[in-house]
Amino acid sequence: MSDTTSSMPPVSQRLANDDRMPRSSKLPPAPRYDFFGVVQGYLDAAAKLAGTPEHVRTILSQPKSEIIVHFPVRMDNGEVRLFKGYRIQHNDTLGPYKGGMRYHEDVSLDDVKALASVMTWKCALMGLPFGGAKGGVKFNPRSVSRAELSRVTRRFFHSLGGNIGPDYDIPAPDVGTNAQTMAWALDTYMNTVGVVSKQAVLGVVTGKPVSIGGTLGREKATGQGLVHCVRRWAELNKFDLQGKKLILQGYGNVGSNVALLLGQLGVSLVAVGDHTGYLVNPEGFNAYRLKQYVEKTGSIAGYPNGSAISREDFFSFQADLFVPAALENQVGPTEAEALQVRLVAEGANGPCSPEGEDVLKRRGIDILPDVLANAGGVTASYYEWVQNRRSEQWTLEDVDDRLERAMLDAYARMEQYARNKECDYRTACYAVALERLAKAYLDREIFP
Ligand code: NAD
Repeated sequence: MSDTTSSMPPVSQRLANDDRMPRSSKLPPAPRYDFFGVVQGYLDAAAKLAGTPEHVRTILSQPKSEIIVHFPVRMDNGEVRLFKGYRIQHNDTLGPYKGGMRYHEDVSLDDVKALASVMTWKCALMGLPFGGAKGGVKFNPRSVSRAELSRVTRRFFHSLGGNIGPDYDIPAPDVGTNAQTMAWALDTYMNTVGVVSKQAVLGVVTGKPVSIGGTLGREKATGQGLVHCVRRWAELNKFDLQGKKLILQGYGNVGSNVALLLGQLGVSLVAVGDHTGYLVNPEGFNAYRLKQYVEKTGSIAGYPNGSAISREDFFSFQADLFVPAALENQVGPTEAEALQVRLVAEGANGPCSPEGEDVLKRRGIDILPDVLANAGGVTASYYEWVQNRRSEQWTLEDVDDRLERAMLDAYARMEQYARNKECDYRTACYAVALERLAKAYLDREIFP
């Protein structure tokens, strides 16, 4: 169903990508994946292992605030559409809420709750002075014009009002959003605070263009952080990356930078997929040219130097590394049985279902969990926020050096915990994060 058809009912009757609207009348509704329940399961397992006090575990099992806004936007054809936006603030014990904004037709309250809580664990694991949040708008950003996208963003951030702020809740890009989205968000927020405060609120969003307070190195940071983890994993496992093969799902911000940076270590991208389908090139794709192509056309569809393959053939393609960098719940038991790789490094949040993860473990395929593997983005966002507060501009080398140290330190914390407690890496990441949060709760106690 097009989001911009002219025969729309009036705004009072219609919500963009309403939950009640079947996406196609021919397809039965897909069974719902309980992403929030899955993350709760990880929390429970880690809390048991870490000996987290029961009241702390209970507090952390739910977000502090769940904000849902409905806001009208005038579309290019003059009609007014009502959009639904979310901001879930999971925890702010260690610092301001922090997390991305997602624009996607499948955005739902439970998924955003899950993603917000993952941000809490991620920031705690990395030792950042941030809590966790996530948000988004339920619509397909590819179905609207650039001008409409700007108005959706501005109206969304305007309707969030004082629910975000540089010392309170700091959004960033995620699926379907980018530096341009953050530029519109910043401009909107700045225009609501009064002229004398404008410069003081530069840090209200991160992942901004460098021209307006963004940091050098943020665009590639999530991919860069993942590549630091893969390099460390390879060292520990005496696995020579040179000449190895990568299959990659998602060729947006995270995926394209992973392909480019792993390419610099001698790893070639042999199969790639996105929302339009999957392509293979046994000789290896030119990651840079493919990135340019996707930036121009919006997807990998029609890229001349690859042959189309099915999703099934993609997952069973012989390679060494698999990086999911699209959406959650992509690797279930079927995909996990099919994969012919040594390592799954989670660029996306929650790409493996627990059942899929069990199969990977049984088959001896290692997993670098999302909480660590894609934490480079929020870490560089922290550097951006610090620069904004201090009115500084760090060099790329400075950002890169700090990021590398932060990723390797966090990797060491995870690895050491897993070795000591004989648990898997995901549980270790959650447990390290929980220990930090539990200490803060025990020191501060519960008010009043
Ligand atoms: P993006 O919008 O830039 O790219 C998303 C990619 O996923 C696109 O290539 C899109 O075509 C593909 N995709 C969407 N639906 C798909 C489907 N059904 N099957 C296959 N591919 C599909 O988003 P991004 O910022 O690269 O984020 C990707 C993942 O990484 C998300 O899980 C996000 O939460 C996570 N992440 C992003 C950042 C960041 O800094 N951007 C940080 C940490 C984690």
